Amino acid sequence: MRRKIVVANRKMNGDMPSNQAFLEGLVSATLSHQRADYVVCMPHPYLFQAQAILKNTHVHWGGQNMSRYQSGAHTGSVSPPMLKEFGCEYVIIGHSERRLHGHDTDTSTGERFEVAIQSGLIPIFCMGETLEEYEDGATDIVTIRQLNAVITEIGVQGLSGGVLAYEPVWAIGTGKAATPGHAQNVLSFLRGHIEMLDAELAKNIRILYGGSVNSANAEQLFAMPDIDGALVGGASLNTEEFVGICLAADRASATNQNRLVSFP
Ligand code: PEP
Repeated sequence: MRRKIVVANRKMNGDMPSNQAFLEGLVSATLSHQRADYVVCMPHPYLFQAQAILKNTHVHWGGQNMSRYQSGAHTGSVSPPMLKEFGCEYVIIGHSERRLHGHDTDTSTGERFEVAIQSGLIPIFCMGETLEEYEDGATDIVTIRQLNAVITEIGVQGLSGGVLAYEPVWAIGTGKAATPGHAQNVLSFLRGHIEMLDAELAKNIRILYGGSVNSANAEQLFAMPDIDGALVGGASLNTEEFVGICLAADRASATNQNRLVSFP
């Protein structure tokens, strides 16, 4: 059974006092609810703060991006060993905000997915179509192209070390989340594609939905059979909202566990 996972993408937000309130609030609010994984991806300067507060707790943390290089003349970039040194377990790769501004390409995201795995990090790999592509009915073509860039680089088995996230660009930061039905259809399509290559992996790999998830819509999204959690932007800036999403994931995991008990 796949364990639900909720990831906060705090983007370029926060400062020391507000980060502290958020991180400490998250640890204490989720303390007795740990049937899901909770991850916070911080702006890089605050990773030391995440490490200080989250070390030895059940909450994990990660970076929002990384270079494919280990060190060298790459001004403004952050290397995998730097993320590791600050205790990161996860790293977001290929977020649409980086793809859209030309920093990330299919090839570079595929390469960095592989480097993340080799570096002992768990890549959270983002895929998703723009509004124009959605209206053209190109969701499947775009997401498969993005996913295949990783598979080409690392082989289908290589996906097993990561987490996938479907994030339609038109839903990010707009308040217009995809319907649970649409998200489920796309995730089921992506899982089906993986299944054709490796049935066992398809059963186990976690695929998230991201795009305007909040505490009010999380429950319905998490009730979908292929949605294994959420990547959360805006709502992760509000402790209560984000905790609400984490608790919805915890409840959904509990329901799944009960189902397993009832129907062995
Ligand atoms: C994101 O940027 O990954 C995201 C999902 O943002 P939001 O939740 O604000 O739509």
